[in-house]
Amino acid sequence: MFGPILCRCGGILVEIASPAEIVMNAHIPHPLPHAALARLADPRLLRGLGYVNGRWTAAADAADFAVTDPASGALVGRVAALGPAETDAAIVAACAAFPLWRDRLPQDRAAILRRWGALMLDHCEDLALLMVLEQGKPLAEARGEIGYAASFMDWFAGEALRINAESVTSHLPDAEMILRREALGPVGVVTPWNFPSAMITRKVAAALAAGCTTVVHPSAETPLSALALAELAERAGVPAGVFNVVPGDASQIVGQMCADDRLRGMSFTGSTEVGRLIATQCAPGMKRLVMELGGHAPLIVFADADLDRAVEIAMDAKFATSGQDCLAANRIFVERPVLVAFTAKLAARIRALRVGHGLEPGTDIGPLMHDRALAKVAAQVRDAVAKGATLVTGGTVHPDLPLAYMPTLLAHVPADADILTEETFGPVAALMPFDSEAEVIARANGTDYGLVAYVITQNGARQLRLARALEFGMVAVNRMKITGGPIPFGGWKMSGLGREGSRHGLEAFTELKYLCIDTAA
Ligand code: NAP
Ligand code: MG
Repeated sequence: MFGPILCRCGGILVEIASPAEIVMNAHIPHPLPHAALARLADPRLLRGLGYVNGRWTAAADAADFAVTDPASGALVGRVAALGPAETDAAIVAACAAFPLWRDRLPQDRAAILRRWGALMLDHCEDLALLMVLEQGKPLAEARGEIGYAASFMDWFAGEALRINAESVTSHLPDAEMILRREALGPVGVVTPWNFPSAMITRKVAAALAAGCTTVVHPSAETPLSALALAELAERAGVPAGVFNVVPGDASQIVGQMCADDRLRGMSFTGSTEVGRLIATQCAPGMKRLVMELGGHAPLIVFADADLDRAVEIAMDAKFATSGQDCLAANRIFVERPVLVAFTAKLAARIRALRVGHGLEPGTDIGPLMHDRALAKVAAQVRDAVAKGATLVTGGTVHPDLPLAYMPTLLAHVPADADILTEETFGPVAALMPFDSEAEVIARANGTDYGLVAYVITQNGARQLRLARALEFGMVAVNRMKITGGPIPFGGWKMSGLGREGSRHGLEAFTELKYLCIDTAA
């Protein structure tokens, strides 16, 4: 008899393979050895094929790739690596489905989106489990992301009903002038691994509400969350061709999507570097672009702040998603009179964070996504210390989890440290003192990025001065949680183009048409 093979991940044992217990899943082309998958209440949410024109689709050459648990390295599943033929089929399907979807009554599109969102909430536990297994974030955060992701279905279902025409007061005699908002067309959607569900729904719900159809390329790190969404889309009644998921090699698939003039827009979330490449590739076809790119958020603590509250905000803003968050507070500026007290309180909270497998109860911080992420974080810490920063806590890799970096606090980080210019994508907080409002505004703005800035002060006039002076798409005053369906999420400068969420999130997926009707008798 074979016993299960166990692997120690943080404090828990994870069963990674048991030949006697391997589950054969009819929807997955290979056996699945990750024992935690047995917890799935609805195993049909685990899909190993792409989703093209309403059909579960393998690659023509049967190519596939492994999806692994970043905490244990265990195989979660294998997913079809679709190629040029399947990418083309997805684009053809999105084009064929477009006129029918566009011409559905908006309340029909809204009802389907609402059903899709409701199904996500019904299956929240399973979707969160899949997310933890492929992405590594703690289970509570994964559940939170499913709720956040589903909320865009509801929000844009409402917006679908309010895509109204406008009337222009005519400047010409005998003319009636109308502005119509019409669906842009089939669009490409490319999403990262740090929010494998919400980054898809924030785009796709808006696109579908506007009457567009979609071809989605999810990150190869986290395709299972995207494919589970496809299974639920089908159950919700999303027609074939309206939502296609094409996993596989990003440069090939996304390159093909960018070059294909039948796709009228590209909505991308990811790094600024890849965003620039996609924008370049889309330029010849004049595609509409939405770019949600990197961030390097400042968090500014004034001496008049409630320090305990400031520490809470800094913890949330820095350590959510194990620090792998475009909203992460990467540069923490503290007014000098409270520097020592704030540093001590923050260090105590950081030392208390529990690092472990995302399924282990009480885990605050999971592993990083891959070894490149770990190497980058470790190099940033080494560089900062070599240039004179103080390592207050952390600075090592977790003894049992090879991809988990211990929560780290660097104080007195010098201006020339790499961590102050490169995006930090890990659980490392970089602290610096400041002496005046003008100085900290200049330093906070001294970055190519402009996604979000956090300000903590009790002084109302200063809140308004900072809100005006900071060159960021979003400014959070005395709080961290600011996102949701009703707000326009997006950045200035190298953090992106356009907005997602809110009524502004629909703009990317619509074209304006000016109609002038002669009314002369
Ligand atoms: P990434 O490397 O830029 O990847 C993003 C997407 O682009 C993935 O689907 C990826 O596929 C694909 N991709 C990678 N190389 C490509 C290429 N040469 N051509 C075309 N597509 C390519 O970013 P990431 O590491 O996944 O995500 C982290 C980044 O996303 C951070 O910079 C973060 O700040 C940003 N982000 C921004 C927001 C926002 O709303 N502003 C939200 C979340 C994340 P593969 O993964 O399969 O290679
Ligand atoms: Mg993996």
